[in-house]
Amino acid sequence: MKGYLEVADIFRGFGPDYRELHGAEMPLRHLRVMRAIEVCRTAELGGHIDQCDHCGQLKVSYNSCRNRHCPKCQFLEKER
Ligand SMILES: [Zn+2]
Repeated sequence: MKGYLEVADIFRGFGPDYRELHGAEMPLRHLRVMRAIEVCRTAELGGHIDQCDHCGQLKVSYNSCRNRHCPKCQFLEKER
């Protein structure tokens, strides 16, 4: 288990309850962003397998949501 929480962990843990209480008054774009962040880099968005050119080891990577509000995708964009 990771030693820190990500926004996605919080959304996945509390998002459904929060939306049940407040979903009706939330703007649709907020709901979309929440959803994108929740499924970012999970099997829900599908994935791909990379193979190492040297040792042939296979590595499974999940696709990211590419939402500009997603902290994970923002970070990757900055690193690039
Ligand atoms: Zn993302």
